[in-house]
Amino acid sequence: MSEPASYTVTVDRDACDGVFACLVRDPRFVEDDDGLAAVDAADAESVERTDASVTATFADDRVDDARQAAAACPLDAIAVAVETGAAEAGEVPDR
Ligand code: SF4
Repeated sequence: MSEPASYTVTVDRDACDGVFACLVRDPRFVEDDDGLAAVDAADAESVERTDASVTATFADDRVDDARQAAAACPLDAIAVAVETGAAEAGEVPDR
């Protein structure tokens, strides 16, 4: 069941190897200039990119798409965290 929620999607750019299984599950993932996964800023509330990661914040009902992308990533490079702070997949540091 999907309902509108605020959540963040983080791509660990060190872990990402440009396999792009994520794009197939969630078209909001895009290939960046370095051949790694990024997130299309058009759909996000905000996108923050550093050398190490890309973190996008969303407020919509597509968290399940992001979860599927995270589950499909063979390198566990994608983490999805709903606003409660719960980690859905991958690595999210405790805050
Ligand atoms: S599936 Fe994982 S490793 Fe492949 S591009 Fe997406 S985030 Fe990177």
